[in-house]
Amino acid sequence: MQKNSSILPPQTIGIIGGGQLGRMMAIAARYMGYQVAVLDPTPNCPTAQVADKQIIAAYDDRTAIKELTEISDVVTYEFENVDVEAAKYIESHGKLPQGVKALEITQDRAKEKQLMKDLGLPVPAFSIVRDGAQCEDVLRNVALPVVIKTCRGGYDGKGQLKLESAADIPAAIRFADKNAPCIIETWVTFDKEISVIFTRTAIGEMEFFPIAENVHKDHILYQTTVRATIAGGIQEKAYQAATVLADQMNIVGTFAIEMFVAGDDFYVNEMAPRPHNSGHYTIEACTISQFAQHIRAICGLPLVPVELIKPARMINILGEDLEAIQQAMPKLNQGYVHLYGKVEAKAKRKMGHITFIGENINEQLEKLEEAKQ
Ligand code: AMP
Repeated sequence: MQKNSSILPPQTIGIIGGGQLGRMMAIAARYMGYQVAVLDPTPNCPTAQVADKQIIAAYDDRTAIKELTEISDVVTYEFENVDVEAAKYIESHGKLPQGVKALEITQDRAKEKQLMKDLGLPVPAFSIVRDGAQCEDVLRNVALPVVIKTCRGGYDGKGQLKLESAADIPAAIRFADKNAPCIIETWVTFDKEISVIFTRTAIGEMEFFPIAENVHKDHILYQTTVRATIAGGIQEKAYQAATVLADQMNIVGTFAIEMFVAGDDFYVNEMAPRPHNSGHYTIEACTISQFAQHIRAICGLPLVPVELIKPARMINILGEDLEAIQQAMPKLNQGYVHLYGKVEAKAKRKMGHITFIGENINEQLEKLEEAKQ
């Protein structure tokens, strides 16, 4: 479908998943004049608030998937845990240009790491274990620290356990028994975490966003700074690794790869077949946002050349930060606040983000801190 014809406004884009990523995709689509339909079980979810239509049902509800496919000219998703059978159904109707392959790989850390290894990319040493006994065997033969992660379903540090010493082994065995299959990885001592975000079209055209430097707190992304301070050699190797992976998986749309930088080396950590939290800065700081570029790619439009307009710093607003930010807003004339329309401000829940751009970001951050007092 994508090869011969483009999807043009006011045709309809269907989105599976109604959180903040879907919302920012929908806003980008509506700017261009597309109609948006979203499938999500929560009435008036963040994406539904800015969409034309919501189908309220579980993500894997077959009737709902059928309806979304019927009313949409093209379908995309905001998270990688889309039901593969549902994705196959949409693809068979010619409406899922992103395809099923990238979903199948990124849903499963074992497949993801194995693909990277097979392609000769640098990854931390790893083993896959199917139960506690296998976990015990592996741990007998590796040097600690390591991290054990569930192969499926973990996010924001959920579904993983770091082992520092032999005293942590019994907990890891219990973890493996409960969550198998799991992956055990060598713990890498890194200088910094970066993410490489790019967009690719169905005909293999690619545009990279500037590499972002990320700081996590409690496994949740805290802030992103662009440009990342990394050696030119690392940047080149990171872009090369991303190109190899993108070509291998026939990526269409915006895609993110997280990496660790250690001295002159880098390791590929994980991939997300969608726009990424560390790419939110692109909304104000680049010639096109990761969301608008994603919409263009899935609709078969040519990509906009990406340039960084100003240096940027994005900070996530979690439930516990929301009130202070709201109080600071009337005192600030800089900093772009995005709130996602989530009803309940729970601790650690991503409620929004704020992006600062320009040469004087540290000064702007000082003003933010003062305004919060
Ligand atoms: P992940 O869910 O794989 O992105 O892991 C969440 C965070 O845990 C990463 O952003 C890193 O800060 C840390 N982490 C995960 N795996 C490793 C590893 N093998 N070595 C060091 N840090 C890791």
